[in-house]
Amino acid sequence: MYIENILADVHEAVTPLIGQGTVADYIPGLASVNPNQFGMAVAMNNGAVYGVGDWRVPFSTQSITKVFALVLELARDGEKIWQRVGREPSGSGFHSMAELEKSKGIPRNPFVNSGALVVTDALLSVTDGDPDAVLNFLRAENSDPDIHVDEDVAASEALHGDRNAAIAHLLASYGNLVHPVQDVLTAYFRQCAIAMDCRDLAAAGAFLARAGLRSDGSRMLTASQNKRVNSVMLTSGMYDAAGDFAFQVGLPGKSGVGGGILAVVPGRCTVCVWSPGLNASGNSLVGVRALDEFTTRTGWSVF
Ligand code: GLN
Repeated sequence: MYIENILADVHEAVTPLIGQGTVADYIPGLASVNPNQFGMAVAMNNGAVYGVGDWRVPFSTQSITKVFALVLELARDGEKIWQRVGREPSGSGFHSMAELEKSKGIPRNPFVNSGALVVTDALLSVTDGDPDAVLNFLRAENSDPDIHVDEDVAASEALHGDRNAAIAHLLASYGNLVHPVQDVLTAYFRQCAIAMDCRDLAAAGAFLARAGLRSDGSRMLTASQNKRVNSVMLTSGMYDAAGDFAFQVGLPGKSGVGGGILAVVPGRCTVCVWSPGLNASGNSLVGVRALDEFTTRTGWSVF
């Protein structure tokens, strides 16, 4: 099986759909993206990386970075974070506050915004308050200093961040933030605004398909922690459409409102796909279809 051929076939299959869906506009910094773009990269466990389309065009990673924040926190702090964040699918939108009130400030999972804000707070504690821990990790994994925070997007998120600020204040009112709300929000917005391409994201997440081992053989997570991150991606990585994604694609995945999705085929590869138009659940419309085509053609799935 030649991955290049599979990627070419997937690209051809989704081409009629490219441009469909709605580009996220609740963060004005994202609204100006050209919707007619599509890229996909596959990072194999042997180190080879393949790509098609706009796979080298940087895009706004948004919530995909929530995976890396969780991983960095787990790597440095062990299992402590699970006392502050749950592991259940939320059943409501990614920036819902309703659940949080009922659970007295314990977010449902680390991939809804409330959970990610708690993870960001915990990460600030173990990095001496570094708001760019995730950025530095992603740069180091790819030896690429060009991976950057899109300052316009970060500023735009902050300017239109009333809901995230409200969530952070609610968390603080329940004692589930250690740092000042403003510091947590700044780090969170910077993390969401990281811009990078499909190739670099697939490569940075490669340890997720290798039981926690990085490409240089060093350990990022224990095999057990790694399995757990993948399980939370499967159950909670696609907002309210995690069930549908498991049904259609059959892989752990994490999406972002910038139109990217990072998916993991444990034991084989990571896949990153990007196309800005979102479906009604806030996931990349073409991205989900492309992953569906990919798993159908390869037969790779966790089921
Ligand atoms: N920065 C976005 C927000 O917090 C990230 C949301 C997302 O990608 N789901 O609203």
